Amino acid sequence: MEVRRQIEVSGIVQGVGFRPYVYRLAADRQLSGTIRNTPAGVTIEIQGPAEAVQNFVERLPAEAPPLARITSFAVLDIPCNGDRDFRIVQSHEGEEVRTLISPYVAICPDCLREMFDPRDRRYRYAFINCTNCGPRFTIIRDIPYDRPSTSMAKFPMCPACLAEYEDPLNRRFHAQPNACWTCGPRVELWDKSGNPIECRDAITGAASALNAGMVVAVKGLGGFHLAVDATNPTAVGRLRQRKRRVEKPFAVMVPDLQAVREICDVDSAAAIVLPSIQRPIVLLPRKMPSMIPDEVAPFNRYLGIFLPYTPLHYLLLAEGRFKALVMTSGNLSEEPIAIDNREAVNRLGGLADSFLVHNRDILLRCDDSVVRVAGGVTRQLRRSRGFVPVPVFLKDEQPSVLAVGGELKNTICLTKGKHAFLSQHVGDLENVESYSFFHEAIEHLENILEIQPEIIAYDLHPDYFSTKWAQQQSGVKLVGVQHHHAHIASCMAENHLEGRVIGFALDGTGYGTDGNIWGGEVLVAGYEDFERAAHFEYVCLPGGEAAIGEPWRMAVSYLAHHFGREFLKLGLLKSDIPFVRHLDRQKVELLLRMMEQGVNSPLTSSCGRLFDAVAALVGVRQQVNYEAQAAIELEMAIAESDDETGYPLELRPEGNHWIIGARLLFEALLEDLGRNVPVAAISRRFHNGLIEGFVQLARLLRDKTDLHRVCLSGGTFHNIYLSYRLEARLSEAGFEVFTQKEVPSGDGGLSLGQALVAAAKGSRVAAKPT
Ligand SMILES: [Zn+2]
Ligand SMILES: [Zn+2]
Ligand SMILES: [Zn+2]
Repeated sequence: MEVRRQIEVSGIVQGVGFRPYVYRLAADRQLSGTIRNTPAGVTIEIQGPAEAVQNFVERLPAEAPPLARITSFAVLDIPCNGDRDFRIVQSHEGEEVRTLISPYVAICPDCLREMFDPRDRRYRYAFINCTNCGPRFTIIRDIPYDRPSTSMAKFPMCPACLAEYEDPLNRRFHAQPNACWTCGPRVELWDKSGNPIECRDAITGAASALNAGMVVAVKGLGGFHLAVDATNPTAVGRLRQRKRRVEKPFAVMVPDLQAVREICDVDSAAAIVLPSIQRPIVLLPRKMPSMIPDEVAPFNRYLGIFLPYTPLHYLLLAEGRFKALVMTSGNLSEEPIAIDNREAVNRLGGLADSFLVHNRDILLRCDDSVVRVAGGVTRQLRRSRGFVPVPVFLKDEQPSVLAVGGELKNTICLTKGKHAFLSQHVGDLENVESYSFFHEAIEHLENILEIQPEIIAYDLHPDYFSTKWAQQQSGVKLVGVQHHHAHIASCMAENHLEGRVIGFALDGTGYGTDGNIWGGEVLVAGYEDFERAAHFEYVCLPGGEAAIGEPWRMAVSYLAHHFGREFLKLGLLKSDIPFVRHLDRQKVELLLRMMEQGVNSPLTSSCGRLFDAVAALVGVRQQVNYEAQAAIELEMAIAESDDETGYPLELRPEGNHWIIGARLLFEALLEDLGRNVPVAAISRRFHNGLIEGFVQLARLLRDKTDLHRVCLSGGTFHNIYLSYRLEARLSEAGFEVFTQKEVPSGDGGLSLGQALVAAAKGSRVAAKPT
């Protein structure tokens, strides 16, 4: 008996080879019908013998192309008609507009094989791609996503490419960036002034320069990288010096998984993430000794490793037979990554000896993503290339909100229906270039997603650039969102939670509703509002910003707070420990006076600053060269052991909330320091103490509120030791614990929480008049 079914599929099903896939699936079973793109995804009508149709319906989602992401799938019986074959129906103008755009996908195995096959017409062609791989997000100017709205518009397809493009059975059917040697973009090697270098082959030329220890700027997918041979300490040192990057680790690109295993410990989860289509940078414990010199990641037990992802990377690594290349963002310190050829020459001319460029324009920059894998779970540290613009799928429909994020590690977020679109990593808005990128990111995302926000959400910090920008907008509702409330809401949104939760929001800095600098906050929160249920005791941040760069100041602040200004004379500290030896008594005196007189010494409850104080006291770090360096190194100092002791935290009721005090913690820690207990053990006990204190606090709050769900968010939870142990201990204590995986728990995930809070508050807010 013949039947006909209509199947509505939504999700990421356009531009990912879905229609050819369905075409083949139908053809194999000799079924008739149609498939067409719709605003929500695709609609399929399928007709034939009942059994074959049933089989088609079952196989359809199960064997979908790797890049497809099906979010809903509905089947309906409809009357049969006279269809005798299966057709791909062209969509009407403008119909594809509202579908999801696929992110960048690393070169697929088929394209890789063709590229290294001397008989293939795309042998060694650096822009090979198909519907299963290649650029998307970074080459789109406008929607709908087809060639004229991309930076491939200037390369008309040759007859051979066009034939592939039009053949529903071809892997390149409707592959918008399809190209070849005849019709597509080309690579060139330029000198440091931007003049083309005469050479037989640009890639060979770049490989020899790298082998000679030179710095080569390589145009990638979402921007330029600065590359050097990672096994050459002189070359790495040169790059560090030119980039003015003192100690922040460089990412390293390694040809394959086997080569990664030679330099790092790769567990089974990392072995899946490294070669995934997203190809993020994965932080992995480094093996010692290894061929990678310390200069690549000084004082760091981890290396940021990624596999090649563009065809050009593969060609370059193969040509130079490199074991590992440093591939760091093509920028000076914290500026955004360069994307345009001429811009790169202007901005990176003093950094690179030559430029490996090409003429396929990058329309939007997109940095590499960074993840950490532990306990089988992948956590985002920087969600960017490969993940953007895949939305975070929300539980409920939301109004259209633009959330503009925080100040550091900025991302923006746009919501539409049940989707929250986080932008790529925008960076630190303090510098002018990032601030203009922030504007671009908003405009581009609003444009390609067709979202006109009715609400704009921003951080409460009056001096953040994102806040100032938001407050200048009119004709929309403006909603300010407290920083740590946004962190907890971000965790709730990702985990589809409703109602109220106990939220641990731990980080370095966030503006509080009392004007102080918060950062060690325990909230009882829902989307709409929160209560500050507990927080770390306020201490001074002597010198404000300066204290963030100089952890020794925080150690002085804590010691003076708990033991008085004469703390050095009390015999609490042995005079021969590095912290005391490095102390400049005059500076200490100055600091003490500043704090006593309240000069440039704001109050803070920051958890990050407590880590800084401890890191300085135990001699791990007195000054930092990049954000959170002291806390990262303190975590890394922890040694494997079964020592479960911890320094106690005090929990004192004050009004209707709890104060978390650190006096007992410091007393115990100083005693250990006095007994020459190694740093590895002290750091472990410090972490253990925080964890036990937090569990105790969660119990107290459960007794008071009856809540048993706990959310963990904020940059401090990038600390794996803390987050895993706390999660485990809370679970043992009967809590349901939620953490962030898809979105960073640091400020890169802040915009998601802001959006959800603002959406919840939005109905009670009036639009600002134009
Ligand atoms: Zn491919
Ligand atoms: Zn061609
Ligand atoms: Zn934060």
